[in-house]
Amino acid sequence: MSKKWVYLFSEGDASMRDLLGGKGAGVAEMTRSGVPVPPGFTITTEACNTYYENNKQFPDGLWDQVLEAMKDVEAKTSKKFGDPSNPLLVSVRSGAKFSMPGMMDTVLNLGLNPETLAGLANLTDNPRFAADAYRRFVQLFGKIVLGVDGEKFEHVLNEAKGDTRQDTDLSTEELTDITEKFKQIIKQDAGVDFPTDPYEQLRYAIGAVFSSWMGRRAIDYRRLNKIADNLGTGVNVQSMVFGNMGNDSATGVAFSRNPSTGDPALYGEYLVNAQGEDVVAGVRTPRPISELKAEMGTVYDQFATIAKQLEAHYKDVQDMEFTIEKGKLWMLQTRTGKRTGGAAVKIAVDLVKEGVIDEATAVNRVEPAALDQLLHPTIAAAEKEAARKAGKFLTTGLPASPGAATGTVVFDPDEAEQLAKEGYKVILVRTETAPEDFHGMVAAQAILTARGGMTSHAAVVARGMGKPCVAGAGELKIDYKAGEFNVNGKTIKHGDAISLDGGTGEVFAGSLDTSEPTLTGDFATFMSWADKFRKLSVRANADTPHDAQVAHSFGAQGIGLCRTEHMFFEGDRIDAVREMIVADTLEERRAALAKIEPLQQGDFEGLFQEMDGLPVTIRTLDPPLHEFLPHGDEEIAALANKMGIAPSKLRSKIESLREANPMLGFRGCRLGIIYPEITEMQARAIFKAAAACKARGVHIHPEVMIPLVGDLSELKVQADLVRKVASEVMEETGQQLEYMVGTMIELPRAALTANKIAEVAEFFSFGTNDLTQTTFGMSRDDAGRFLPLYVERKLLKDDPFQVLDQDGVGQLVQLGTERGRSTRPNLKVGICGEHGGEPSSVMFCHKVGLNYVSCSPYRVPIARLAAAQAALGDAARDK
Ligand code: PEP
Ligand code: MG
Repeated sequence: MSKKWVYLFSEGDASMRDLLGGKGAGVAEMTRSGVPVPPGFTITTEACNTYYENNKQFPDGLWDQVLEAMKDVEAKTSKKFGDPSNPLLVSVRSGAKFSMPGMMDTVLNLGLNPETLAGLANLTDNPRFAADAYRRFVQLFGKIVLGVDGEKFEHVLNEAKGDTRQDTDLSTEELTDITEKFKQIIKQDAGVDFPTDPYEQLRYAIGAVFSSWMGRRAIDYRRLNKIADNLGTGVNVQSMVFGNMGNDSATGVAFSRNPSTGDPALYGEYLVNAQGEDVVAGVRTPRPISELKAEMGTVYDQFATIAKQLEAHYKDVQDMEFTIEKGKLWMLQTRTGKRTGGAAVKIAVDLVKEGVIDEATAVNRVEPAALDQLLHPTIAAAEKEAARKAGKFLTTGLPASPGAATGTVVFDPDEAEQLAKEGYKVILVRTETAPEDFHGMVAAQAILTARGGMTSHAAVVARGMGKPCVAGAGELKIDYKAGEFNVNGKTIKHGDAISLDGGTGEVFAGSLDTSEPTLTGDFATFMSWADKFRKLSVRANADTPHDAQVAHSFGAQGIGLCRTEHMFFEGDRIDAVREMIVADTLEERRAALAKIEPLQQGDFEGLFQEMDGLPVTIRTLDPPLHEFLPHGDEEIAALANKMGIAPSKLRSKIESLREANPMLGFRGCRLGIIYPEITEMQARAIFKAAAACKARGVHIHPEVMIPLVGDLSELKVQADLVRKVASEVMEETGQQLEYMVGTMIELPRAALTANKIAEVAEFFSFGTNDLTQTTFGMSRDDAGRFLPLYVERKLLKDDPFQVLDQDGVGQLVQLGTERGRSTRPNLKVGICGEHGGEPSSVMFCHKVGLNYVSCSPYRVPIARLAAAQAALGDAARDK
């Protein structure tokens, strides 16, 4: 007996990927779990390998097994291959163990010839449909199986359509004529008559799939993706089903839960009397799946049951394609459903509550970056109500991707990109979007389209980017030429402001106020699970009590970086700062500093108060002084006037502060070393604030941080000064203050000499912005000119200022931590560069044993989740 080369779908399962390929194993699993899948079979990958060993001959027994399997398919479908009165048609597809997109296209409608074509036309009572099916089959078979240049077919098709018509406009006669021309091309190029025997067609097609495994495209793909050549491909032969056989037929796509909100109800759309590609192409506007219940109740119920069953089977939301052929439901595909951040959280929490998955699985189910979508503002109900009353409501479209946005209307993606570069907030308004609009979508705050459903290009792409999108707002009449759109009697012109809510689909004229998201309910539950697993603490970079409050509400466990210079710009205190900078003598400088001190003290009290009980890291002044002074004649004259000094004096001061290379110049601790009175003032403000708060019962944990230290001596000078001031304040106030003095590690030399620096530093915080700048030797201020091109040309995988360069800068982080702890074993180490909120960088920080990451307030939840997933990854590896 020959080997078993052919498996009916009912004979396989998900574990048989090696033998049946990914696709074959997938449909087998669906069939096995009782879902109605169009019957078919898979020819094994072993058969493919043996075909090559046999000098490209079918292995012994293969064809007989195919014939047997076809009988089974005929029996199950009650159709007959090649029978004009009731023809069975099949699709033939490749399917290797690993998905290899583009390796080999699919042959559809195989089994058609002039006789079965007539039968199909009769049976469907739709000669045009049948003629088009035949046209597609001859075209695909000619190109894929017989190797004819596909361009030649396209040329014929385009000539027939002319400039203005689409495929769908072609008549039955025209389609028939086109097919005849295709056959002539095949005869000329391939030297064969187009095969009419369905079994001959099938044999050819199977051979072509086997051969495609060693085709140029497939070999290149495998080289690139490191897939072994000896795996072979499976061949899937499956009966065709048609959703366009009349009003009792339909086709659609649906999710087992709402991918936008996570609501546990079927969500999707369908079209009656249509083919799958009609839904995707947006030729007709599909209807919500809920309407199928009224239209085809039994089929709907069956579909709802299957959706539940598949979800339970795969333990996750499913994205399903189905076809109803003459009242019978067929499932064509199921895969894990993509979802918004909000939906991901809700679904993860619901699945735990339903007992389907555990908390750790739930935590791993949500991409940290996807949380970003949840942390965006929304438009408050009252604000919307007021806008409605003011007649600003325009329309409601589909709530394609959540989040609220306001911006000016732009119709052209190039213009959207340009205006965004100039700092404008724009909303891209299109009839519908296409892949070539992508750059405009990236640049826009939000996207609004007039056509297309929840699975349209705009909706899918916007959800992926976490950008608000209202799609399919059918009342919009867009006139690109006039640069305006009309909706319900109102005209909105290019450049006018609009607001939209991608979570509800509402669109308003004008700029509406947006409000902060609520982080309670499922979000809070989900984050509490993440917190159970993570080892890293998460702090925030916050400079004002308001930032600190936002950070606290997002779950920050302290402030990891307060950039005190940002406080210098608040209100009119900048004048005192400027006085301090232009001061000629120490006395003058001290007098100006004395004005700033109480203001800084007030800020610090606000921070301590907000972070009651949590650590607050305050960094002494960092940027070069000229950043606080104006440039340009007019501004200089105005300030000089205000300060009561001659403009020439101010100008020469500015000139004297000018640096060739400010990023590597007179900044950081260098300022405090040359002007110790600045550090002294700041330390005094910090400790007086701490004492005052402590007296009020606030639990204070100040950590004073010295920036841009390259040598131990620099830290020592500044730390001594800070400690001296601390003792003085304690003496003056009679308050005992617990505090720490530590340093930023943001220069390679600091990382390399970390063992020495730790003799004085009580904590380290890696300033990976400067550390990246100085390790790469790329100025933070100037890298924008060339770094994006580096990334575009793949010289660097990512922008190292956004994603930590683990190979280079990461080494310094690891080595600095190790060396620091070799001196001070319990040294607390954190990171406060931009990377502290970027998921892959957070995972790296976990790996090298940092104590905490500190990031912008809005990224705190992202960092918490990334830290939890990093810890769960360790747990999985330890098992
Ligand atoms: C850093 O350099 O990483 C840092 C946090 O400091 P700044 O960005 O203020 O230079
Ligand atoms: Mg820095």
